[in-house]
Amino acid sequence: MAYKITLIPGDGIGPEVSLAARRCVDATGVKVDWEIAEAGADVIGKYGTPLPEYTLASIRKNKVALKGPLTTPIGTGFRSVNVAIRKELDLYACLRPTRSYKGVRSRYEDIDLVIVRENTEDLYAGIEFEVGKPETQRLIGEIAALSQKKIRPDSGISIKPLSITGSKRIAKFAFEYAVKHGRKKVTAISKANIMKFTDGLFFMAARDVAKEYEGKIEYEERLIDNMCMQLVQKPELYDVLCLPNLYGDILSDLCAGLIGGLGIAPGANLGEDIAVFEAIHGSAPKYTGQNKVNPAAMVLSAVLMLDYLGEKEAAKRLDKAVAKVIAEGKSVTYDLKPDRNDPSAVGTSQMADAIIAAL
Ligand code: NAD
Repeated sequence: MAYKITLIPGDGIGPEVSLAARRCVDATGVKVDWEIAEAGADVIGKYGTPLPEYTLASIRKNKVALKGPLTTPIGTGFRSVNVAIRKELDLYACLRPTRSYKGVRSRYEDIDLVIVRENTEDLYAGIEFEVGKPETQRLIGEIAALSQKKIRPDSGISIKPLSITGSKRIAKFAFEYAVKHGRKKVTAISKANIMKFTDGLFFMAARDVAKEYEGKIEYEERLIDNMCMQLVQKPELYDVLCLPNLYGDILSDLCAGLIGGLGIAPGANLGEDIAVFEAIHGSAPKYTGQNKVNPAAMVLSAVLMLDYLGEKEAAKRLDKAVAKVIAEGKSVTYDLKPDRNDPSAVGTSQMADAIIAAL
């Protein structure tokens, strides 16, 4: 029987990389009945929203989706559809395995880290108060009354909620992932010395969960600023990293940098029984429609999806095929060539062809 999976092509480079991933999955022999669902700026005219209800309903029904990147306007306009999907479906865990592939130019070798990022809380909760608005002035007044702390009247305010429930849930996910995938250590990361009541709470919750795994999985804590330096200097000391939303977002890109860039960094957003798989990279609008960018991150996200579905053998084969194409360095996109202007670089669809041939 075929798996029914929602495919959101995305915008910018999204449709090109999702098509590549779809073709690679189909080539593994795993039968998938793809249900295409739209989202993003391009569909506002048609549905009056960048996230149509039918798209959410499709993911809810199929429980698994493969998603291309979607553009978010900066500063003004609609809020991130990517964040909205995670919130609407309570996809509380963002999983980002970061592994070195031979043949990718990088300052580091043998990187093998897993980022587990909380996806629903923190400064990403979308609770914001715009500068100059009456409610913002009221909030500033309330805060002054409650905390004796003054906020400048010409401030905008973003709220950072971190709950014990959310923090324990993500810590539990990180430890369970470590157990299931033969990992040794979980490092919780925050800025607890400064934000005692939110980041401090995150450590407390993680510590609590860690007790259940004593003797099985090691636990340690790091401050985010120190962690940035540690990862650049001695990434080999770390294993599974568990972080609140914002730090997790930033550290994911740092780790993608350690393995040679966004072109090969996959991801998954997981809830209790729904999973959406997507690359870390965005819609790179300047490359739209050029058949230029690297499909590997999206294909490797599909590898995570196959693994999640229990199609372990197909997942392994596809992962190996990607690794082989990258290691050979012939049929790869510009970003994987020693010189970015190398005329022998192939396009998105040709790299997908090479992966399929290597399967
Ligand atoms: P981006 O990841 O889209 O692109 C940054 C740069 O990284 C690109 O210019 C390109 O040089 C490189 N790059 C990205 N993907 C690549 C690939 N597959 N192959 C080769 N090179 C690649 O980041 P951005 O420019 O900050 O964001 C563009 C848009 O994407 C924004 O609107 C942002 O909100 C959105 N975004 C969406 C998601 C998502 O859908 N989950 C994630 C991140 C950003």
